[in-house]
Amino acid sequence: MADFKKLPFFGKPAMEFTDRILKCIDCGAEFVFTAGEQLFFYDKQFKNDPKHCKQCKAKRSSGGARVRPETRTACSACGAETTVPFKPTQGRPVLCRSCFQKQPKPQPAFPSKPAEDARPEPETPTEQN
Ligand SMILES: [Zn+2]
Ligand SMILES: [Zn+2]
Repeated sequence: MADFKKLPFFGKPAMEFTDRILKCIDCGAEFVFTAGEQLFFYDKQFKNDPKHCKQCKAKRSSGGARVRPETRTACSACGAETTVPFKPTQGRPVLCRSCFQKQPKPQPAFPSKPAEDARPEPETPTEQN
């Protein structure tokens, strides 16, 4: 049995993070680099602090049209830093745009559901007492 219930240990991180005020290099506005974001950066081993406020980041990534939940992560195939329009699940491969296009089709690492229907029904044990 795979222990799929094993979750990352969120109770108390190894490092304590506190909200920090950073300055946007684009517009000079101060923005909060929250403890949660720092934990995320620490988790992803990002070495650099964010340099842009949320507004400028949104403008740069989506042309100012609409804020998308883009997450910076590293490509599982080539290791290049990329942004994905979803929150990557831990343990799931994330591909950059070029690697994703090289893929013929998305290949699940393992079947999400065991084919229980294929298994023969076990005989009801006859309990003799
Ligand atoms: Zn800014
Ligand atoms: Zn890649």
